[in-house]
Amino acid sequence: MADKKNLRTPIVCVMGHVDHGKTTLLDKIRGTAIVSGEAGAITQHIGATEVPIDVIVNKLGDPKLRDRFIVPGLLFIDTPGHHAFTTLRSRGGALADLAIVVVDINEGFKPQTYESLQILKRFKTPFVVVANKIDKIGGWISQKNLPFAATFKKQSEDVQARLETKLYEVIGELYNQGFAADRYDRVTNFQKTLGVVPVSAVTGEGIPDVLMVLLGLAQKFLEANLQYSATGPGVGTVLEVKEEKGLGATLDVILYDGTLKKGDTVVIGSLGEPIQTKVRALLKPRELSEIHYESKFKQVKKVTAAAGVKISAPGLEGALAGSPIRVATEETLDEIVAQVKSEIDEVRIDTDSVGIMIKADTLGSLEALVHEFQKDEVPIRKAEVGDISHRDAVEVSTVEDPIYSVIVGFNVKVHPDARDFLQESNVKVFTSDVIYRLVEDYQKYVKEQQEQAEKKIFETIIRPGKFKILPGCVFRQSKPAVVGVRVLGGVVRTNVDVMLENGNVVGKIKGLQSEGENIPSAGAGKEVAMAIEGATVGRQIKEEDVLYINVPERHAKILEHEIYDSLSTDEKETLDIFLSLKRKDNPFWAK
Ligand code: GDP
Repeated sequence: MADKKNLRTPIVCVMGHVDHGKTTLLDKIRGTAIVSGEAGAITQHIGATEVPIDVIVNKLGDPKLRDRFIVPGLLFIDTPGHHAFTTLRSRGGALADLAIVVVDINEGFKPQTYESLQILKRFKTPFVVVANKIDKIGGWISQKNLPFAATFKKQSEDVQARLETKLYEVIGELYNQGFAADRYDRVTNFQKTLGVVPVSAVTGEGIPDVLMVLLGLAQKFLEANLQYSATGPGVGTVLEVKEEKGLGATLDVILYDGTLKKGDTVVIGSLGEPIQTKVRALLKPRELSEIHYESKFKQVKKVTAAAGVKISAPGLEGALAGSPIRVATEETLDEIVAQVKSEIDEVRIDTDSVGIMIKADTLGSLEALVHEFQKDEVPIRKAEVGDISHRDAVEVSTVEDPIYSVIVGFNVKVHPDARDFLQESNVKVFTSDVIYRLVEDYQKYVKEQQEQAEKKIFETIIRPGKFKILPGCVFRQSKPAVVGVRVLGGVVRTNVDVMLENGNVVGKIKGLQSEGENIPSAGAGKEVAMAIEGATVGRQIKEEDVLYINVPERHAKILEHEIYDSLSTDEKETLDIFLSLKRKDNPFWAK
């Protein structure tokens, strides 16, 4: 077993669909630590909360467990959701060592539940599933803060059965997503099977179990990853670049390795060359008892991983959320700068020569967004971190294809001058702070565009038509011939050639009239007067003749191969007969 001193606190991120209880769960876990009475035991970090192992063991109610766990506690990232998860990267992987996926047991899986699972699968992050809101199951009698087994025992058989049924729906969905899963206390091998913990984030039932499973996972999967040298140079990830009164731009950082001290030289990723600066102050939140101080922060001399800390230093304006921060010495500076640069470059996205533009607020979210669009085979021409600028708008406005004259923005603003320009332009902009919504909105837009394009084709295409010259209805012999016809199938219209069943093209429809009025077209079943130029009744055509619209070959191809399904039944029949007439002489016609 590894030396306890050398293991750092695992970092945990909470994910899941909106309203399924992520925030409530986090609050409960933090509350758990505070309520347990050990003043100061819980350490408030910047952007994260540490729950020490002693607090967790107390909660589990079995002091013997203390020796089983070698990690010093758990560090929960305060911002739930997969945005935080993907933003927080470390060396190309995820910063969070572990995750909790929260799913409302009564509502089941929702888009962000699926998205969370996919992201965790991609990053190979061990996680536990929390089936939340068990207190809402009909008949449930809440037992505050009890472990699951104890509260479950106290429920009636009916209620127990209800829980099991709902739980199996969750387990079934997980199975559909490619995960073997079971109620966590029935799992024998967490390496093979996902544990699902029934929980109420409101009453605290099952929370001790969640903590225990997390500790177990940390122990099984992460021992090697959690090794660190407390004296080594600090390595972290920028959670946020934040303007603070009196301090200017500051960085909220999660340190995941080594130690960071006041006065250290640090290298931070930016869009251009990495930033090199000296730490002016390291800041932590003040305890509740210290609120009489003016500043909400207090200075510390050093922090050791894993920890969340605010850094004040000159020149932090251009720092990128999601980028690495590393402590350097005079000797290592060049090497560290190169390292930080290459970590940023890793996120460089393979782009296509045509495609949409993607903008996102952080490297991690950009990567996640690009991944989602690429999965849908949407070509991407440019993908960048930053707000939507006037330059972006101008650039995309030169793209003619409406499907690609598109900017997709995740968690970014549209600059006012860009907004003015965009209003006048053909550029379509989608912005949201939910990835799947952006993908869905774009797909919907593409579909609409395709339908419109189809409609345009449909309007210009010459459609099939079949008609018969009615007996006793020859109004004029020739130049042009005017005859009464009945449309037998499809549509007849003006300015198209007509042919006989033997394939001879005999003239062109010059005009159509119904009840003395000129009309552009007439559908099946209609009887109308038709002027045919080029034909003479008694020579090329006669009463009772059946004629067809001579659909040009190119149009026939589109009708048969592209829009056949949208034709009416009589149009389809007419087209089929027309094609068979044409193909009598030439079997490859319009093929
Ligand atoms: P988030 O969007 O995933 O962070 O969800 P919240 O934590 O904000 O919870 C959404 C709503 O569900 C709030 O009204 C919570 O009070 C409620 N909620 C969360 N967990 C539970 C639970 O275990 N039981 C019940 N009854 N309500 C819950």
